[in-house]
Amino acid sequence: KRKYFLAGRINLIQRSKIRELFEKAKKMDDVISLGIGEPDFDTPQVIKEAAKRAIDEGYTHYTPNAGIPEFREAIAEYYKTHYKVDVSPGDIIVTAGAYEATYLAFQTLLEQDDDVIIPDPAFVCYVEDAKIAEAGIIRIPLREENDFQIDPDELVEAITKRTRMLVLNYPNNPTGAILKKKTVKAIADIAEDYNLYILSDEPYEHFLYEGAKHYPMIKYAPDNTILANSFSKTFAMTGWRLGFTIAPTQVIRDMIKLHAYVIGNVTSFIQIAGITALRDKRSWEAVEKMRQTYAERRRLVLKHLNRMPHITPFKPKGAFYIWAKIDPGLDMSSEDFAEWLLENTRVVVIPGTAFGKAGEGWIRISYATKKSQLIEAMQRMNEALSKL
Ligand code: PLP
Repeated sequence: KRKYFLAGRINLIQRSKIRELFEKAKKMDDVISLGIGEPDFDTPQVIKEAAKRAIDEGYTHYTPNAGIPEFREAIAEYYKTHYKVDVSPGDIIVTAGAYEATYLAFQTLLEQDDDVIIPDPAFVCYVEDAKIAEAGIIRIPLREENDFQIDPDELVEAITKRTRMLVLNYPNNPTGAILKKKTVKAIADIAEDYNLYILSDEPYEHFLYEGAKHYPMIKYAPDNTILANSFSKTFAMTGWRLGFTIAPTQVIRDMIKLHAYVIGNVTSFIQIAGITALRDKRSWEAVEKMRQTYAERRRLVLKHLNRMPHITPFKPKGAFYIWAKIDPGLDMSSEDFAEWLLENTRVVVIPGTAFGKAGEGWIRISYATKKSQLIEAMQRMNEALSKL
């Protein structure tokens, strides 16, 4: 069947209410945004130096489409040392961030009328990727009782003969949840039994708290997993557009065709800086410092939210977000609550419905913001909510 792109069906800007919220915030003074989904840190100096050096050394030309071989070796080496996973550099494509990696997975693996399972709530790009691929979207709710992990039994129930792929994202945006090893293994077994691909988007793997661990899906379901990963969050490199995908050889073979004609290759000197990011001890020291700063902010925000009336935070173990429940007694939708908060406190949060229907009744608070701003925001929120 031929694929048609029907402009009417692909409505990429559907979150108009949220847009309105941001527009309103822009016109106000003294706004504190807790809506931001990117690190507020600068890229570690050692990585910046490596990029500048690489330009001077002439890394300004095309590279192989899949990426510079030494960089792909460094990525494979990273999986070996961090997770004891054997990855062939040939099964890696360097991408323009995790966004490109997820896009390639959807476009390559899904035919029109194939179904994809996307948990609810979930990061916003998967649904849009699915629409572009004209795939059927099945949402399964993530529940607080289950620590926002995917429930293996519910997953099995949702699978039909049209289901081809499951999307996972842990540590999770927006909930901050992580996946326990037991669940990772159960999902790996289901994927094998039902012949499902798992698109596992893991850009927050290094931001873990209270001794939490990350279990990369690729270790437990190597034949079924398409891993999307990124330098954006780990090394505070959002604007560099550097990420990668690792997938079974036959999938990589299809993905590379699309990547080659859309992106060509990721910027050559940025790939060279990526080698330094992965291999230089100093860049990992910088990552650990960022993690510790996030950990301190997380404690601080949780402490305030736990004392605040009308709001109950879920205790996240990863990423840099807090998913918080709005008191149902207020009888306000997520969007109304976010709007009320902006008008009464000049604090921006994201309404949970931005991430799916199951986000109704919730808000996402990002703590990728300076401590002084976080304290100020918490005080404003406490004061306003105490009057309700
Ligand atoms: N996946 C998740 C879960 C994210 O939160 C983000 C960015 O916020 C991305 C992917 C996109 O990241 P990148 O900058 O690597 O394209």
